[in-house]
Amino acid sequence: MSELLFDLSEKNRKGYTLPQRRVPQKETNKLIPNEFIRKQPARLPEVSENEVVRHFIALSRLNHHVDKGFYPLGSCTMKYNPKINENVANSACLKDLHPMQSTRLTQGALALMYELSEYLREIAGMKAVTLQPAAGAHGELVGLMLIRAYHENQGNPRQNILIPDSAHGTNPASVTISGYSAVQVKSNEKGLVDLEDLRSKLDENTAALMLTNPNTLGIFETQIAQINNMLREVGALLYMDGANLNALLGIVRPGDIGVDVLHFNLHKSFSTPHGGGGPGSGPVGVSEKLIDFLPVPKLTKNENEYCWDYDCPKSIGRVHSFYGNFGIMIRAYAYIRMLGSHGLKRVSENAIINANYLMKELESHFQLPFAGPRMHEFVLSGSKQKEQGVSTAEIAKRILDYGFHAPTVYFPLIVREAIMIEPTETESKQTLDRFAACMIDIAKEVENNPEMVKNAPHTTPVSRLDEVRAIRQPDIRYNFDNT
Ligand SMILES: *Cc1c(COP(=O)(O)O)cnc(C)c1O
Repeated sequence: MSELLFDLSEKNRKGYTLPQRRVPQKETNKLIPNEFIRKQPARLPEVSENEVVRHFIALSRLNHHVDKGFYPLGSCTMKYNPKINENVANSACLKDLHPMQSTRLTQGALALMYELSEYLREIAGMKAVTLQPAAGAHGELVGLMLIRAYHENQGNPRQNILIPDSAHGTNPASVTISGYSAVQVKSNEKGLVDLEDLRSKLDENTAALMLTNPNTLGIFETQIAQINNMLREVGALLYMDGANLNALLGIVRPGDIGVDVLHFNLHKSFSTPHGGGGPGSGPVGVSEKLIDFLPVPKLTKNENEYCWDYDCPKSIGRVHSFYGNFGIMIRAYAYIRMLGSHGLKRVSENAIINANYLMKELESHFQLPFAGPRMHEFVLSGSKQKEQGVSTAEIAKRILDYGFHAPTVYFPLIVREAIMIEPTETESKQTLDRFAACMIDIAKEVENNPEMVKNAPHTTPVSRLDEVRAIRQPDIRYNFDNT
């Protein structure tokens, strides 16, 4: 393991210089209440600039990230995001804005937000979009609040939200937090919603069906029209989890296939890097029926001026401080403008062909549950390897030795020993070929040298971690007393 920055510290070594102070210390002390003034300097590591840079570069090399290698983590869309969009988000005229500035002084920022919501509206075929939610799961919660508000306005909020058994874990969690009950709907032998099971669970208590399309198996729900008719018969709404929108851009608009509520993941499909727990953005698009309930304030355009409208009596209220995570909106706006409608369609075409190409390369080496083709991702099963004594978790660890991030494993829950692969649109055929060769090598090792796989990884900075202890007892605080 590498040293901590504290271990590099030498007394009085500095990596910065500050300008001469112009106001004497005792003057500034008068401005700050005494209890907030430090009695001793903070115990920070004292290091030079190059030590700091080298330290963090070394740390970044211990980790896997998309700037370092292929990252086929299914459902998460760990694609490479153009660095130019980071530059745009970093420009002083945008990043130094304060949300308390008046609308008169921030017309440019409001125009950006207004146009972004118009683009998203057009991309998804929805009637209106709110940019406030801060993540996919937050978008789900907001969508469910809108659904509740709609039904309440009709006289009865209803009780149940139906969710296919292949859904992302955030779906049932959001349903529970929103005060609804999650009712599971089975998948059929094709990996699609089982219509019989859906029919048996649909009634006047159903508020909505929460569908992921393409679903987490990477399969497009072709029965969407029948599903819609069934929902309409009982007055239920259709929610679509749009985290996987990089499969549909320019090809299918959710609004055109009857979706009432949709969340986007700007930090997956629209150029914000993610995975480190940083800020996200999960805008929500709605159909005509739900417009009145959208969060306040709503951004509107009067003649040539943008302004915030707070006068929306049926609104569910605010769901974020100020207006949402603006930095992420900038990246999404730049990305959409850069690609244009033709470029966005190419994003999805490439995401789809990459997934299907890789699936074809691997389907004779691993079991493929449900027949193809797929949209932007596919799920293999490691059940054959499991019978040979090697688990999917062990295969995932072995993949790390080849310099790739492992795919998502054991999700979706309906596939035994699931290995969920999303190559994304940003990878070349050569990278896909290298990854396929790695997977095929590992499948051969499982037969000929299983110990190699079972003891992996062999080349990473740390090998097998005690994952439970790492979560229960994280050791993340530097202890000065031990030095
Ligand atoms: C990522 C994802 C979510 C949740 O999005 P977060 O921004 O992580 O909260 C929901 N559904 C699907 C299908 C996803 O892939």
